[in-house]
Amino acid sequence: MSCFGTTASCKNFFSAIFKKVKAPFLNLRRRFRKNNEGPSTESSMATTDSSESQDEILSDYSSGVYKNETWGQVEISTSTVCKFSNCFENCWLNSTFQAALNINIIRHKIFQMSRKAKVSSSEIPLSTEMFLTALKKPGMRFNSSDMLPVLEELSKFKPELRLMSPNDPADFAEPFLEWLNACGIKTKLQIKCKTTCVTCKVRERTVFNQDNLFFIAQPSARKVSLTSLFIEAVKSVCGNKKCSTCSANVNRQISFGNVDLITLYLPRYADADKERRYVTPPAVIEIPVYNGKYKYRLATVICHKRQVDQSAHYLTYISNGEVFIKANDEKISIARNEYFNNIKKDGTIFFYEKCT
Ligand SMILES: [Zn+2]
Repeated sequence: MSCFGTTASCKNFFSAIFKKVKAPFLNLRRRFRKNNEGPSTESSMATTDSSESQDEILSDYSSGVYKNETWGQVEISTSTVCKFSNCFENCWLNSTFQAALNINIIRHKIFQMSRKAKVSSSEIPLSTEMFLTALKKPGMRFNSSDMLPVLEELSKFKPELRLMSPNDPADFAEPFLEWLNACGIKTKLQIKCKTTCVTCKVRERTVFNQDNLFFIAQPSARKVSLTSLFIEAVKSVCGNKKCSTCSANVNRQISFGNVDLITLYLPRYADADKERRYVTPPAVIEIPVYNGKYKYRLATVICHKRQVDQSAHYLTYISNGEVFIKANDEKISIARNEYFNNIKKDGTIFFYEKCT
């Protein structure tokens, strides 16, 4: 249905599909404006080789596409989400664990490995042990005495993660995802850019290997879709290349390597004078790969709540298909109606897992 490329046939195909769905899409868009809640069920992407990009959300906004999905060994509910004490301003750790524990592909792959193999591949063994315990015991509560040794370990391992400080979960998510990567879960986006010179027809191919968190730049508009920000970020990685033989313009086609988890990081600032931009994440994103396309569903989102004293508090929204569950340290609840507006306003780390 979509492509991240540039060929004429791709564009024609895209516009044919778009015409077909345009009428219902416009109705749905009106409905969405009216209700203003619930993520879209699918978002497709297409880019051109120039600076303009197409970014259309093509389908229904109703939820429930992933009904009755099982997550590793348990079905997700408020009673299966683990609770973590926030005695040491460690909501950044809690929110990351609560996000990762409820991602299907992580549960699945980690369960298949031996405990020894899992811990030995980690540079942060105490944190890993806690994560594995939480994975094995859904709904478990971790108190302040459980948290302290883990926080001490992390503050020694990574000085940015200061003890008893309100850190950014991204500083923990990066080494944590690195460990998942060592366990065989592919967490690093690989962007492949193929160019064909419009004049001399010389073809070139460049691969850009990314970190575990894929950085999304601040939006310039007040309301914007995460899809369009993602496309912009990918294009800026590829750069505005010219033909290396004759310096003429090139046609560009972008595809991706096989990845299990796409983690998009949009930094949010605590300063009250900075206006919050609303970023709408699609429920599903689709990316082109060498032999077709892969779909990724929004599994969890870490949100950055601005506090009155301009500090930050982090919490996690977890999709269980029909509803979102709100995990706020030790308080676990079904998310209320306003959750999607909260995600748009405060979402900072978006975890998309590959649909199987
Ligand atoms: Zn050329």
